[in-house]
Amino acid sequence: MTTDILDLPGWTVLAKRLEDREYELEAEYTVKPTACQKCGVLDRLYRHGTKDTIYRDSPIRGHATRILAHVQRYKCRECGETFLQPLAGIQEDRRMTARCAEYIKQQCLRDTFTSIADHIGCDDRTVRNLAGEYIASLDAAYRPALPAWLGIDETQIDGKMRCVLTDIGGRRPIEMLADRDKGTLTTWLHRHKERKHVQGVAIDMWRPYRDVAGTIFPGVPVVIDKFHVVRMANYCMERTRIRLAKSRTKEVRRDWMRSKAILNKREGTLTEKQAFNLRMWLDNEPELADAYRLKESFYGIYGMQKPQALAAYDAFKGNVPPRLKADFKVLLTAMRNWRTEITAYFDYPISNAYTEALNGVAKTINRAGRGYSFEVLRARLLFGTQPRTPPPQEPPTMTRVDQSSQRAFLLKTSDGRCESCQGVFPIGSLEVHLTPAVVPGEHRKGMLVCPTCHSRFHTGQLGSEVTHSTQ
Ligand SMILES: [Zn+2]
Ligand SMILES: [Zn+2]
Repeated sequence: MTTDILDLPGWTVLAKRLEDREYELEAEYTVKPTACQKCGVLDRLYRHGTKDTIYRDSPIRGHATRILAHVQRYKCRECGETFLQPLAGIQEDRRMTARCAEYIKQQCLRDTFTSIADHIGCDDRTVRNLAGEYIASLDAAYRPALPAWLGIDETQIDGKMRCVLTDIGGRRPIEMLADRDKGTLTTWLHRHKERKHVQGVAIDMWRPYRDVAGTIFPGVPVVIDKFHVVRMANYCMERTRIRLAKSRTKEVRRDWMRSKAILNKREGTLTEKQAFNLRMWLDNEPELADAYRLKESFYGIYGMQKPQALAAYDAFKGNVPPRLKADFKVLLTAMRNWRTEITAYFDYPISNAYTEALNGVAKTINRAGRGYSFEVLRARLLFGTQPRTPPPQEPPTMTRVDQSSQRAFLLKTSDGRCESCQGVFPIGSLEVHLTPAVVPGEHRKGMLVCPTCHSRFHTGQLGSEVTHSTQ
């Protein structure tokens, strides 16, 4: 038994070509229908010509692939009607193999529509339509539960603020809302019956979040994430640097700009050289030194036990010298307006770091696929996030060229794409496999391939298939 590169039961490949960097597999489906498709009567059919149809297939060896099918037409002796033979493995309304439709569904949450369409050799609209259907079906089945620790944050995408809700403990996205308005968030939260499960809510300093949390989850602690707060301390210190720089020469300004990283780092993380440079800098700039000390002392509060932290928090304002009051105003105001939520962190040190990382993911997705609708962006975030595991480190001295060293080499240069179907996969799932030649003149080639391509190439004795391929 041999199975050809088509790997579709019931199909026989008649010829294979590579034209304009695209494979064409000329094929026919050999299973004969017994019943008339029009009247249902059995065994009254006879052949009545063929019709050639092109079906798109998932790519092979990095080339778009199409099937030129000689579809058999039958005529029924009973009713006199004609019909085309039903084909297995084909999604007729899409003019593609079922496998190709699956490929689009799988890839539409990982890759851009343009790039998928490009790999398959179809137009963007086909990908968009299939993706739309798929996303609607995922959405219909999606029933997120409220987590014990709810993260609420927003991310700006194409000028619009989108609200992102996460399960902080489980590090999972839960929902992306079209905006961060009070009404939108309230409506969404009200739909959930298990609101009693929520033990804490982490937000940033956006009043509607606090209001909504207070209404929907009465008595549940609301925590301002540490990183949102300490970032403000950095921001205030930067204001001092920028303000002072204005009265300095161009050279000094540029020098300060270049060196600002050592100001923003925590003191304890500086290298010896950086610490020395910082000391030199601050010794000459007492006002900047004050701003730096304030920033460091603010960070220091987060390293304390609660009673000391609260005392240091309330003492902080008094430590801001009058000449720095304006620069540190936003921090001081936030500390006053959000004291309860900021200091709640010392009882509930939950962090929105995961939510923020996810926001970064959302931005990256959007940048890569300009023009994504909100629905697609949301679906990619909720259903399509892939943990990107780094490739295994290869030992430096590798003498034998075996599969594992080849894999390590290919993984190092890989961006997580299968080299055959060109789909995006978790990098650890890719394996090196010798992909068979499809047409004469090609060579078997070691490629990093996905599990699907791997199994496609493994069905049957491809070697013999290749040798007696078309001339
Ligand atoms: Zn009939
Ligand atoms: Zn593949």
